[in-house]
Amino acid sequence: MSGFWKRVRYFDLYLTKPRPEKIMRMIVLLLSMLIPAASLAAMLVAIDVPPLEGANINQQFGTDPKQAFMPKKALNSPRAPVFQIHASDPDTQPLPYYRIAPDTYFFFGNIAEVDGINRGFNGNAGFVVTRDGVLVLDALGTPYLGRRMIATIRKVTKKPIRYLVISHAHPDHYYGASAFASIPGIRIISHAGTEAYAYSTTIERSVGYRKVFLPAEMRNFRAVVPDILIGGGNPSHLVIKLGGKTFEIYDTGFHHSHGDLVMWQKEDRILWISDLAFNGRVTYIGDGHLHEIGAMQDWVLKQFPNVAMMVPGHGAPQTPPFSMVASTRRYVDTLTETMRAAIKQGQSLQDAVRLAGIREFETWPLYDLNHWINANFVYRTLEEELF
Ligand SMILES: [Zn+2]
Repeated sequence: MSGFWKRVRYFDLYLTKPRPEKIMRMIVLLLSMLIPAASLAAMLVAIDVPPLEGANINQQFGTDPKQAFMPKKALNSPRAPVFQIHASDPDTQPLPYYRIAPDTYFFFGNIAEVDGINRGFNGNAGFVVTRDGVLVLDALGTPYLGRRMIATIRKVTKKPIRYLVISHAHPDHYYGASAFASIPGIRIISHAGTEAYAYSTTIERSVGYRKVFLPAEMRNFRAVVPDILIGGGNPSHLVIKLGGKTFEIYDTGFHHSHGDLVMWQKEDRILWISDLAFNGRVTYIGDGHLHEIGAMQDWVLKQFPNVAMMVPGHGAPQTPPFSMVASTRRYVDTLTETMRAAIKQGQSLQDAVRLAGIREFETWPLYDLNHWINANFVYRTLEEELF
């Protein structure tokens, strides 16, 4: 569907539900149609789906509040925090956060699947304060958490929030973005794949699932369609100069999702790698492209030889030599070789997956949640390549 027709479809929503906030957006939309080069505000796609029936809200791999723990420092912390989010807390209440460099702040998520305890704070996000405003990287897992991120930023600085970069469209990084979309003047940047996902039917199922756990926090959820899209490979990139800092945002293909970005915070030599490597948990690769993981890790290490700190989407930020990149790689390579050998030996998918345990990672968080799905995915990928 062309951009024009998307806008027309969006326009219809306003005609059927004329609320003041929507009328305001309609005016902005009309202006942006008149000035096609300038997309004046991020658009939102209405996703009005009920919670899925029959889902179990007691997640096996959720957060255990009895293990509550907050590390003193985030950088190189051997453990991720374990903490509870209470939906009854007002959305004006700041979230726990860390300062990981002079102007750089970090939201350190639980390592767990989404449940009624972590309430969607099971990934990382961060923000950078510059002379002329704030750039935010990722938005956590619900509009409510997005509003609490904004409250946290307001506690740190009164400077305007100028940019939100969405590293990829997985819920734990993206669904809080609708809270940011109403900030005047904000520009929302993402991979072109995020836009495609916002208009897909897949998102409806994902939102319905999340509403089972978090009905209040997901109320009025709208999928954000970014203002600025990065895509097209090579990797293509965008450079933002803001208040004396340079942010280079690169398309890193589809290694993990519908479209993935990394961000280089140049002067501070901080590389936000999102889910290109996981620190202290097993990755999930069921939405990505298997061979791009290693290829993009190689590219990043070559492109940015003097990184002082890498910030992943899950687990602690790290200083060199970036053992999380090596361990994620080792996991993916070992699994790939195991499944390749199984196919060669003529094992069925079921047998190959059953026998695909990797001892080194058995005790890693989220192994049992993700490993067997990953094994299944890798087998099918390799099989398709062979035949
Ligand atoms: Zn993630």
